[in-house]
This record gives sequence, C-alpha cells and structure tokens, in this order.
Amino acid sequence: MSPVPYSIYIHVPFCRQACSYCDFYFITRQELIPAYTEALIRDIRSSADTFVDGLTLQPMCSESAAEKSRNPSTQKVRERRPHPSDQQLENTPVSHTPEAQLSKPYLSSVYFGGGTPSRLPARTIERILETIHRHHGLDSVQEITMEANPDDLTSLQAVRDLKNAGVTRLSMGVQSFNPDLLQFMNRAHSARQAEQSLDFIQQADFKTYTVDLIYGNPGQTLRQLETDIKTFLSWNPPHISAYALTIEPGTRLGKALQLGRLTEPDDHEVARHMQLTVNLLADAGLHRYEVSNFALPGHEAVHNSSYWNHTSYLGIGPGAHGLQLRSTPDGRLTGALRWSNPADVRAYIQMHKEKTSTRREFTHGTETEILSPTQLAEERLLMGLRTSDGVQTGELLERYGYQLSEKQLRYLEKMRSEGYFHPLSDTKFTTREAEQRLPAAEGGPAEVEQRLGEVADNPSEVKQDPESSQLLRLTDAGLALADRLTLELLS
Ligand code: SF4
Repeated sequence: MSPVPYSIYIHVPFCRQACSYCDFYFITRQELIPAYTEALIRDIRSSADTFVDGLTLQPMCSESAAEKSRNPSTQKVRERRPHPSDQQLENTPVSHTPEAQLSKPYLSSVYFGGGTPSRLPARTIERILETIHRHHGLDSVQEITMEANPDDLTSLQAVRDLKNAGVTRLSMGVQSFNPDLLQFMNRAHSARQAEQSLDFIQQADFKTYTVDLIYGNPGQTLRQLETDIKTFLSWNPPHISAYALTIEPGTRLGKALQLGRLTEPDDHEVARHMQLTVNLLADAGLHRYEVSNFALPGHEAVHNSSYWNHTSYLGIGPGAHGLQLRSTPDGRLTGALRWSNPADVRAYIQMHKEKTSTRREFTHGTETEILSPTQLAEERLLMGLRTSDGVQTGELLERYGYQLSEKQLRYLEKMRSEGYFHPLSDTKFTTREAEQRLPAAEGGPAEVEQRLGEVADNPSEVKQDPESSQLLRLTDAGLALADRLTLELLS
C-alpha cells in the first residue's frame, strides 16, 4: 500500500478588527488567546491517534450504506471511547496499529488560517508546532503556511521570529495598496505597513510566500487595479491569490448593499478586472494553476493543492473543518468523514478544558457527515476542474469507482466545441501506467497534454474505457466559468 498523506489546518479566530467584507469566523477579544492556545494544544494531543488510525483502518461504510446517507445530507455521528490521560499522551510517542504502519500515513503540510494567525506570538506558534511534531511528526512536511496581516509584521525581527518558529511560507493579507480601498475594506493596515512587511519578508529570506489581492471593488477603475497589481509585482512575489470581492449578507458591505448605499460592479466589469489580473500576472511569469491562484513554477501551494486533490486533513480549532478519507489497501475510496468544529471560541475552550481529559475522537463535540464515493467523485470534479491540471477520468474510475455517463460525455463535447474544455485526450495507457508516467508535479499543462498522447480529432467518438484515461481540463475561457460549468456537468 502506498503512503497516505494528510495535512493539518489550525484555525486561529482572532482579528484586530472586522474587515467590511468578511464572513469568516473570528472575534476581536484578544484576551481569550491564552485559554484558546491551551485548548488547541490539548486538542492536538488528544485527537492525533484517532485521526491517524482512521486513515488506515479498513472501510467505514459500503457504497450502499454511504448512498443512504446522501439525503438527508448529514448522518450525525457522535462517538466516545475511553483512552489514556492527557499526561500520558504528552509523554508517549504516537504509536500506530500494524495496519497503520503498513500504510505509512504521513503529515505533508500544516496551515495556520483564520482569523489572523499572526495575532499569536511566535513562541505560541512554535509551541503548537512542537506539539504537532510530537504527535504527528514534522519530518515529512513540505510546507508550514501561516496567514499574516501587515499590521502584525511591523519589524524584521517579528518576521524572523516566525521563520525561526518553523513557518516556511507566509500568506500575506494585503488586498490592495490603494488607501481609499483599504479604508473601504476596513483593513487594519496602511499601504506603508503592507510595503514594509513585504520588505521584511524578503529580508528574512522567506523562500516562498503569497500575497492576497482583491479586485472588482465598487468604483475601482481598471487603471487603479493595474497600479495595484504593478505595485504587488514590484516585490516579484512567487505566488499571488487574487479574488473578486464578494459581498455576503450579514457583513458590513452586505448591510450597505441592502440599504442601497452601495452598488456592486456588474459582471462584465468584474470579468474585465479578472482578465487584466490574469494578463498582468501571466506577463510576470505567474501561471494560473487554479482559478484564483497564480504562481511561479515550483511555488504552487502544497496545502491548498492537497484540498483540490482530495487529501485527508485534520481541522483543529473553533470553526475548523476536517476530512478523513477511508480507502481499501489498493487505494479505492470507501467513503469519508467530514466534520466541522463549533464556531465558538468559548465553547471550544470549555470542550477542551479538563487538564486530565482522555484521548478523544477527533470529532469530539462536533457534527459529522458521511460522504459516499460518488459524492467524493463529484467534489473531486468540482475542485479539480478549477485547476490547470484538470481531472483524469482514470482517477475517477480507479479511486472513486465513478464513470462519466453518456449524457455527461455529450455535455463535455458540447462545451469543448464552444471552447470551454480542451479536447478530451486519450492517454492510451492504463491509468496505473499513466499515474507512474505522469506524476502531477512534473511539467505544466502543456507538457502533460503532450505526453498524454494524441489529441482525439473527433472527441465525440472518445468513450470512457476502463483501460485508458482521459484528461478533463478547462480552457482559460472555461476557467472563468468553472463553477457553473462543473455544476452543469453534474446536474
Ligand atoms: S483579517 Fe481576515 S479574517 Fe479577520 S476580519 Fe479581516 S478578512 Fe476577516
């Protein structure tokens, strides 16, 4: 059995102030940080074994059982079992069952998201990473990302401290350098602070980092956006995440919209913003490897890519989500467990309060949902078609037992003729051979397509053959409509 990668997401729900567009879970009461940190550490200690064991033990549900849970959408599962004490956990290295040792689950990435993780002192980040190392091991980890805001990285020493704590990649919430837009978004930092923080990141010699940009703001002109992007590019960032502003109900902007105090830019204007962004970033060598993510070759996000490729992840902290995939020894999925922790810091602190608490199920106190292989395959299509790598039909068949219907193949052909999908290309290899010959990390989409073999001249004649694999991949025009096209494909 091949090694099973998984990742850890830590939610840090503290922010200096509320940005006007934000609907993430966070609070501004920083005095809860110490109690939150202790709860987090206890959660990491107590959930590790049960999460890792579940990655390697055998099927959780049959397809038919999982299908039954499809609707109603959630099957609530609450499990409890007695385990060693917290102190024992702290002093004992993680041990796995013989089955677990055979399949070698390993931690591939850690991500601190929020909220604003840079509200935590570097020493706290270090302590959290030490705990993760003790219970999961950091030796195989390729990336430790931390989201940070410029108003927290106000000195070179502050950035160096994070690097020394073990963070390998910073994700900077800059959004814009335009003072009016920063004010409109109610960001806590100034343009000057954003510039300084990027200088510090370069001086601290972070090999990789990413910067967030928001376009499509009401009243924002193309010229303003161009100035913003060129300012971003003056640091030669290896990665940029660019998002269109979305106005959610319940946010400050949502309320302003409801009261008629704000007018959203129309879709055509937002599309022009997106196209300008894509063009300028491409000119700077940042390729669009996911709808909203652009990177220099070799700087694609490991952690986020693992979500798009459907890897298990342990979500820790209030409001965090997790996913545990269950597979047979030959790698075929039998289902998955998804859970979400209550978005309530106080409840989270209370839940993990007892110092003598026992080892716990990682879903302790949360609501869970069981997903069938079919649901997972559809998710994989939704996420994979947002990426420039696309999705192999062979992977859908081998991993999820999912085969495209004639109706779906006809839809793909129609969308291909309209320029939204690349031609279906028949690999001529069995999918196992294809996996061995085409590791995802090698080469960009062009190279992959070239190596996939001859592009079919008449894709309507291409049928899904269990012995071959076809690459489903959106064109640039298709990527702009990725979610709609995929939903139509699945309808
Ligand atoms: S810093 Fe991030 S999480 Fe906090 S309010 Fe602003 S957008 Fe939301």
